[in-house]
Amino acid sequence: MEGQIYDTAIIGGGAAGVMAVNRCVLNNDHTIFFPGTGADKKRSRALWVSKVENMPGLLEYKKGIEEPNREMLNWLTESDFGARLLWQKNRGITEIKKTDDGLFELLDNKGESYLARFVILCTGVMDVQPLIEGSIEPVFPFANAQWIDYCLRCDGHHVLKRNAGVIGHDSGAAWVAIMLYERYGSPSMTVFTHGEEPKFSDEVLDLMKLYGIKVKTEKITKILGPEKPAALEGFEFSDGSKAAVELCFVSLGMIVYNELARALKAEVDGRGFVVTDAKGESSVANFFVAGDLRAGIKKQIYTAWDSAVDSADEINRRLRAERRNKLIKSKEANL
Ligand SMILES: Cc1cc2nc3c(=O)[nH]c(=O)nc-3n(C[C@H](O)[C@H](O)[C@H](O)COP(=O)(O)OP(=O)(O)OC[C@H]3O[C@@H](n4cnc5c(N)ncnc54)[C@H](O)[C@@H]3O)c2cc1C
Repeated sequence: MEGQIYDTAIIGGGAAGVMAVNRCVLNNDHTIFFPGTGADKKRSRALWVSKVENMPGLLEYKKGIEEPNREMLNWLTESDFGARLLWQKNRGITEIKKTDDGLFELLDNKGESYLARFVILCTGVMDVQPLIEGSIEPVFPFANAQWIDYCLRCDGHHVLKRNAGVIGHDSGAAWVAIMLYERYGSPSMTVFTHGEEPKFSDEVLDLMKLYGIKVKTEKITKILGPEKPAALEGFEFSDGSKAAVELCFVSLGMIVYNELARALKAEVDGRGFVVTDAKGESSVANFFVAGDLRAGIKKQIYTAWDSAVDSADEINRRLRAERRNKLIKSKEANL
């Protein structure tokens, strides 16, 4: 809406973004929400999350973030608070700047611009995928069916009683294998470096020896097993050999979607996560970050929710304080 200044703009419609919308709107703050374009969604973790087993209440959803999010947004829109929310469906933010009077000016993918007093940035991260013969496509059927997993706290328990593996080549990947083995005692555990030179510390090498964790360094050329319904059976390698693997984790790092934070020159840590205080405010005043993009918090749905609530409530506290002070001043002026 031309000339309108929104209390809060929320960028990103995954776990953190929708919780931020819920809290801001129920706090009765005027909220504008950009869930992202189809392309933004496709590269977000939210879209790839299927069955959620590490939290109560989400087991029945096939898409454990997308489906409850849609339910929540539809309910909010139809509720008495509907007028407090402008939901810019399929819109993403391409540019952001701070104006001289401290407002945020946002430009969306259709070239429309908006003004907001506060921003909660929830654009998240994405796990780096292994390339099989130059493509990530072969991974998808198995990742969608959760035979290839990424998040230890979410899906680590899938390795119980299964021949398991981890794709990765550094000590971090080796620690994933060690931790999974210590927790679940899989019949076999292998680290697949997928053609990369292993970079394991001595401590990691000693533990891998202790637990009989194998290392296979050849490039994976084929994922074995039916795709519909998907069931992982193993990998074929560049030297023609094969390995039986029923469940595999990927530990290749994360792509951090911090472009908008960087455009405002917000401080980021060595891995690109945005540094904030306990309420999620970045080094840029009134610019908050929630969810996976925020440095120093777990990369989980419940932390995305909690961090979003912290930021939305802090914004509401400031807005209320400002309105309260204005009211007190105007009463005093009228005395
Ligand atoms: C395969 C997989 C399974 C997982 N399973 C679980 C699980 O079982 N339990 C659990 O607790 N956690 C799980 N996680 C972790 C969980 O997905 C994340 O912690 C959570 O999604 C983080 O929420 P977020 O809002 O920070 O980011 P996301 O949910 O990734 O959302 C990012 C949002 O930003 C939007 N966006 C990006 N760029 C822009 C832009 N420029 N403008 C507007 N919008 C934009 C995208 O459209 C998207 O809506 C899993 C992760 C993966 C990869």
